[in-house]
Amino acid sequence: MSQHFLLSAAARSLSLAQVARMSDQEAREAFRAIRWADNGGEPYCPRCGCVAVYAYTSRPLWKCKGCDHQFTITSGTIFASRKLSIRDHLLAIAIFVNGAKGHSALQLSRDLNVQYKTAFILAHKLREALGAKRKHRKLSGEIEIDGAYFGGYVKPRNYRENRRDRRLAVNQSGKRRVVVIMRERNGRSLPCIFKSEDASVPTIKSRVLPGSTIYADEASHWDRLHARYPTKRINHSFAYSDAGACTNQAESFFSRLRRAEIGTHHHICGPYLTAYADEMAWREDNRRVSNGELYLIAAQAAAQQPVSRRWKGYWQRRQ
Ligand SMILES: [Zn+2]
Repeated sequence: MSQHFLLSAAARSLSLAQVARMSDQEAREAFRAIRWADNGGEPYCPRCGCVAVYAYTSRPLWKCKGCDHQFTITSGTIFASRKLSIRDHLLAIAIFVNGAKGHSALQLSRDLNVQYKTAFILAHKLREALGAKRKHRKLSGEIEIDGAYFGGYVKPRNYRENRRDRRLAVNQSGKRRVVVIMRERNGRSLPCIFKSEDASVPTIKSRVLPGSTIYADEASHWDRLHARYPTKRINHSFAYSDAGACTNQAESFFSRLRRAEIGTHHHICGPYLTAYADEMAWREDNRRVSNGELYLIAAQAAAQQPVSRRWKGYWQRRQ
């Protein structure tokens, strides 16, 4: 039997100790090389793109010769206005990419010795950076489609006489959402969130290019896809895979998201479900990429992602 990828030496190309041992100067150099990789690691103005800049000798700061804008290594990126050192950010990225089922904010706060709120925002900023590439993604080829419900758990009451039938809509919280995954076979994935699975059909039509083949289960709302795509269906009460018709790669994504929910975060729902689904889609798509490469991909995504409207000042707004 072949060795599992995560057990192989190729999966391990980054050690946390390496990152933790970096000096402030080394960490800045490392982030600089990643952020301005398209200019050979040389800084240019984040406001006007001018490559002529002055470097201050007393502080890690640059000034644009074109527009006089002063900027640091994280200005204009998702890490702007940071309080933590660059090394702590790089360490957070290294820890984040190592968790195959995700990494909880509480755990990250203990790893870095920062407040829970700081770790929560840091992890969500990384999720936003990683999810950004999926926003306008279109899929083609052989596409597996499936849905699974998350969140909105209603706890049964203590005494039997007070318990309600939680299958009835009236006794539910209304917070339950379905994650619908569109996944190219051996390719990229795209998760979207809906109130019900059948509401996803128009989105699937807009995100899956014509000429693709759809693989789906027996649920009747997928019938509406037949007019647009060649569609192969699998009845799960009969078999999980039959003559090439299966949704096993979609199920694989849900397996990872469900494990992240149960094993890591314990509770995923509401406004954050998209973020966690995007994160797990990224992990699933890159499951055979070494942790060193994942670290570079995540750091580069964070460096290219502009200041977050959602996460900047999040806790100040919620006071
Ligand atoms: Zn400028």
